[in-house]
Amino acid sequence: MSKDLAVVIPVYNEKDNLEELIERIEATLNKITSSYEIIFVNDGSTDNSISVIHGISENKTKVFYVNLTRNYGHQVAVSAGLLYTNAKAVVIIDADLQDPPELIIELYAQFNQGFDVVNAKRKDRKGESLIKKGTAKLYYRLLKRLVSFEIPLDTGDYRLISRKVVDALNTMPEQNKYLRGQIAWLGFKTSSVLYERDSRKHGKSGYTYSKMFKLAIDGITGYSDRPLWLVSRMGFIIALLSFLFIIYAIFAYFVLEATITGWTSIIVSATFLGGIQLFSIGIIGEYIARINTNVKRRPLYMVESTNLESQKHKSLL
Ligand code: UDP
Ligand code: MG
Repeated sequence: MSKDLAVVIPVYNEKDNLEELIERIEATLNKITSSYEIIFVNDGSTDNSISVIHGISENKTKVFYVNLTRNYGHQVAVSAGLLYTNAKAVVIIDADLQDPPELIIELYAQFNQGFDVVNAKRKDRKGESLIKKGTAKLYYRLLKRLVSFEIPLDTGDYRLISRKVVDALNTMPEQNKYLRGQIAWLGFKTSSVLYERDSRKHGKSGYTYSKMFKLAIDGITGYSDRPLWLVSRMGFIIALLSFLFIIYAIFAYFVLEATITGWTSIIVSATFLGGIQLFSIGIIGEYIARINTNVKRRPLYMVESTNLESQKHKSLL
């Protein structure tokens, strides 16, 4: 029997947040339905999050866990969780209490109105650095220009998705998961609910700048070939300019008899071109690296232990 509602929670070093989180989620879900399940996905925490999770799931019959063998990253942890539920609707929520669980009531109300995707859209992001907010804002606007479908602005991964969407996600084989992009790409009926994003309760962000950078590039390379287009146009324009420059140099030598001398011009053009070339190779490299991980077709993650049955065999893959 499939449940009405499941909540998937990726966990990476969140031991002090879990008790309050589970209480607030339960209190909220009890107002909606009694047919629910809560699934913690422990993403290789190095604190004792997993023993806290074990403790909670032993006492509560509706709380389950999937314990991954190591830290695979937030997107993979959520993707794993989605394969362990057959609920009719699934909410994805952070464990650090930045996403207020009480909002699930509004998300679920929109689902009842017939929406397959209900995004929680942040009005404000408390307790996050100006750099993080600024780069995030810039990035989402850039992404919007690069992709040909609507990616909702100012949303993270806090959202409700219907069974249809979960089934569709479970069939998407890409190794570099970028869930908000994948869900937008699927294009199901979408609505959103506004909320104030709180600051993290305890602990510190598990998203290092390098993890964030990888996610950002995954978002772009997964949904747009425009950077490659840009590289080829840039190559074309620079080739054209240097051709004009060569003509001018020959003209200057034979006609004006004023040879352009100087070390500076050579160094400037060499470093400029060198920079552009490395940048272009880098962009192409990002795409090739992703082709590489995808052709290997490794499993996305390994499960150390769980008290749930995977739905993988039921997914369309
Ligand atoms: N998380 C995870 N694996 C990671 C990093 C984070 O499962 O490698 C989880 C984390 O426990 C939290 C959610 O993903 O539930 C969001 O992470 P975080 O709060 O660190 O990111 P931020 O809010 O700072 O962007
Ligand atoms: Mg957070």
